[in-house]
Amino acid sequence: MTQAPAPTALALALERWEPVIGLEVHAQLRTRSKMFCGCRADYVGLAPNHNTCPTCLGLPGALPVANLEAIRQTVLTGLALQSRIAEHSKFDRKNYFYPDLPKGYQISQFDLPLCVGGWLEFDVAGAQRAARITRVHLEEDAGKLVHAGEIHHAGFSFVDLNRAGVPLMEIVGEPDLRSPTEARAYLVALRQLLLYLGVNDGNMEEGSLRCDANISLRPRGADTLGVRTEVKNLNSFRILQRALEHEVVRQAAALEAGRPLAPETRGWSEAEAATVSQRSKEEADDYRYFPDPDLPPIRLGRDEVEALRARLPELPRARALRLRQMHGLSDAEARALTERPGEALYFEQVVAAGAPAALAAGWQLNELAGLCQRAHRTVETSGLAPDQLARLLVLVGARTVSGATAKALLAEAIETGQDPARLVDERGLRQLSDEEQLTDQVDRAIAAAPRAAQDFQAGNDRALSALVGAVMAATGGRADARRVDALLRRRLPREGGG
Ligand code: ADP
Ligand code: MG
Ligand code: ZN
Repeated sequence: MTQAPAPTALALALERWEPVIGLEVHAQLRTRSKMFCGCRADYVGLAPNHNTCPTCLGLPGALPVANLEAIRQTVLTGLALQSRIAEHSKFDRKNYFYPDLPKGYQISQFDLPLCVGGWLEFDVAGAQRAARITRVHLEEDAGKLVHAGEIHHAGFSFVDLNRAGVPLMEIVGEPDLRSPTEARAYLVALRQLLLYLGVNDGNMEEGSLRCDANISLRPRGADTLGVRTEVKNLNSFRILQRALEHEVVRQAAALEAGRPLAPETRGWSEAEAATVSQRSKEEADDYRYFPDPDLPPIRLGRDEVEALRARLPELPRARALRLRQMHGLSDAEARALTERPGEALYFEQVVAAGAPAALAAGWQLNELAGLCQRAHRTVETSGLAPDQLARLLVLVGARTVSGATAKALLAEAIETGQDPARLVDERGLRQLSDEEQLTDQVDRAIAAAPRAAQDFQAGNDRALSALVGAVMAATGGRADARRVDALLRRRLPREGGG
């Protein structure tokens, strides 16, 4: 008898306990300037503290002016999430002391956020789910601290304020997620939505999209809420899921041992492959929020909101559905092609340039995606224009070039930036389909290998492959292998017609 594998600690914990998870996601907005001053919002690669001014340095007397485009991008996000857009909103000061915050407070939104409520749809293992959104609000990012060594033992630390004041949108979710897998799927869907809206670059590694996860457990069947921990700075999908799985096991063990959990803030330690306590929530944060007297309240007219609604692009789900209906793609193909807006656009451009949709989907998702990945590029930055791919695929569809030739040309095109369809003509790579020429080649192959011909006629199928191979070699791979196969069978009839 074979034994079932032992259930893991995670599976055991999940049998008894139901996780309750809510995410707080911070997304840097893709504006040109910072939230309250004219400095650049894109500070990547700039020398430390070279993207600052009196306002974002918090110098006395400097006054903030709200970035209208950041407000618009936040409202756009709220509209995509079916949130209620506030007619009246305002900025508040969130007071705390930390060296990355030059003013001693962060301008954020407290009781009147720009967007309230709504929901996000996402897929888990093929099933559709939705989680409610609590609010979407706007604030400013803090600067960056660089520690010389490990943070608690660093001899000194550097302060770089290039990031201070960059527009940051916070999307707070209701505790509606019921497993680490669901939490991951939610974040995948949210990131995808932000990319489609063009309001964030989705770069979790560099921190322009950041996620904190709140998690508690309750006995299965209960509808109360347990004591939660907040796990900070989860900068990839993988880490989000692993940290939550670790918390499920840790919290279950504590609860089962009768040890009450304390509300606390934890962080993910890659070295320990565990979440570690950072601070207790007992010392409840006292931010002494109050309205920022330097910034007027935000009033959004109905027509302004409607103008933004008109700016909403086609969203991922709608686009996937349309690709299926218009081009007869499978669900899996449509999903894969709509993962990123750039990918979907490229596909549609290839089809618009004349490629058969089924071929375009297959080649983009398999050949081109693989080549791009190896070259650390995307289809948009591959150097292969959509119409170039389309012309190659038209040749493939008409069997003018073989699949093998097309694959080799595509690889070369990605490497050298040449037009693959032009290479077909320059190098005379069109498939030999002239009946007379092919028949001639087939006869030569048979004459050169009479044994193989006899073997095939005697019932050995592999002997035919050898003859096809000989013709392919003699024609430099340009013969249409299917036609060669057919011609050989016609020339070498088997007894009984087999
Ligand atoms: P804080 O300001 O301390 O972060 P919030 O009330 O704003 O607290 O809640 C933040 C997040 O915590 C939300 O995403 C919410 O869904 C989640 N959350 C609240 N209560 C629980 C709970 N008992 N278990 C898990 N998550 C929770
Ligand atoms: Mg929080
Ligand atoms: Zn500035």
